Amino acid sequence: VPIKVKVVHKRPIDFTKLDINFLPAVILVGRPNVGKSALFNRLIRRREALVYNTPDDHVTRDIREGIAKLGDLRFKVLDSAGLETEATSGSILQRTATMTANVLARTQFAVFLIDARAGLHPLDLEVGKWLRKNAPEIKPVVVLNKAELLFDGTESFSEAADEARILGFGDPIAISAETGFGMTALHEALRPSIEDYVLQVLNSKQCGESSLEEVDDSKLPLQLAIVGRPNVGKSTLLNALLQEERVLVGPEAGLTRDSVRAQFEFQGRTIYLVDTAGWLHRTKDEKRPSSLSIMQSKKNLMRAHVIALVLDAEQIVQAGRSMTHAEVVIARRAVEEGRGLVVVVNKMDLLKGKRAGSLYEKVMESVPMEIQTVIPQVTGIPVIFTSAIEGKGRIPVMRQVIETYEKWCSRLSTARLNRWLRKVMSRHSWRGEGSQPKIKYVTQVKARPPTFVAFTSGKKHQLSEAEIRFLTRSLKEDFGLDGIPIRIMERCVP
Ligand code: GDP
Ligand code: GDP
Repeated sequence: VPIKVKVVHKRPIDFTKLDINFLPAVILVGRPNVGKSALFNRLIRRREALVYNTPDDHVTRDIREGIAKLGDLRFKVLDSAGLETEATSGSILQRTATMTANVLARTQFAVFLIDARAGLHPLDLEVGKWLRKNAPEIKPVVVLNKAELLFDGTESFSEAADEARILGFGDPIAISAETGFGMTALHEALRPSIEDYVLQVLNSKQCGESSLEEVDDSKLPLQLAIVGRPNVGKSTLLNALLQEERVLVGPEAGLTRDSVRAQFEFQGRTIYLVDTAGWLHRTKDEKRPSSLSIMQSKKNLMRAHVIALVLDAEQIVQAGRSMTHAEVVIARRAVEEGRGLVVVVNKMDLLKGKRAGSLYEKVMESVPMEIQTVIPQVTGIPVIFTSAIEGKGRIPVMRQVIETYEKWCSRLSTARLNRWLRKVMSRHSWRGEGSQPKIKYVTQVKARPPTFVAFTSGKKHQLSEAEIRFLTRSLKEDFGLDGIPIRIMERCVP
């Protein structure tokens, strides 16, 4: 969801209030054993590190990423240490070259670590050369780590500092990742340029630079759309959600509408109701919506995180089927666009009688099955049966909406996925005898909706559609992602 920033941002910036999407990335570089991991751990403290893999030469290498806290400063920090562990041969240039594309492209700043006591090492010069070649725009802050070991005399520090200047990146600062010495100096060295960077990003946004216009909406509240044909009970349900009689909070009909029509709280969580007026959801006093407003509401709808499609139980009984063509179209579209879908069957009170064999029971049985046949792409789409007029809809509907949303946002670590993969590969006989496709590993590349890449070895794609479907189904079952439109793609690593 594009958010337009209207204020002009000035320094000092309060980093603690900044959306993490605006924070620049700082990479820690240096030859092995200079203390990159130690510094990374100090910067992120107990915060969680995100570990992701770069597939390269048939080897998976870990890069850790976390949010660093240094005084009032916040930034993303990348630890390149994992890149070295695998390769024991080959020059550092070769090894580090592999990470240039994916890591340096996402990095704005660097901290270059040197071992204070060991002094300048030939490999340090190589790292410097590599950095200059691959990221000439980055001027790293050089730090002499393990400086606490030099406290026997200041002589050795100035000697080490002199050596570090040979790298051509300016004056080094002394730190100790182990003891925390020098963190104030590191803060002073990094803050001005990081602040400049953030100000530039924040303020250029309002100039409408297209690349910066769209912001990851993962920090925005849950956006819910309630759709359905006229008279199924959407307004009644909305009233129950909003717990007041007035639904419309948007501007007058005919004026440009905001995409969010209302906002409410459910169990301490803010929910935005996305405006879908004009497309199916039409209120009584509105005339036929213009095609422009239909287009806008379709766009809004596909921006929602979760879509609740409301059906009318009585109409289901009369028509003898769960969904009309129009309803199937919306449901399929929602799933294809990767939205979370919740089906709400309303007016259950009109069917009365919950005895075995009653209409009430039949509808409860048949609707989920029919939905499964018309939308085979996603198994287990949740269906809630309710009576909005009796005020029963609010809690079950919202619980399901939130559950769907949370699954839709979920992230699975590569380690968990690969333990799972090994199990799945062993318990399933893929193509009968022997020739099962070689999936090297699976990793989640994105959430909202969860999207996975299965890496296979070879020059061409090996997984058939049925195999992808099988993987998708197993993944959903094993991780409780039923009803969520997850995606698996295959990528070949020659
Ligand atoms: P990396 O390979 O560059 O990530 O280095 P590590 O973080 O693994 O550190 C290598 C070794 O140096 C480990 O034994 C650390 O405990 C040690 N080390 C890291 N920082 C310091 C420090 O500031 N002082 C001292 N004395 N040892 C350190
Ligand atoms: P909308 O057009 O989808 O917004 O539908 P409304 O909320 O305006 O409801 C249409 C009609 O159905 C109204 O007369 C409501 O009172 C009625 N209605 C809504 N929910 C229920 C329900 O759960 N049971 C029954 N029996 N009637 C309902």
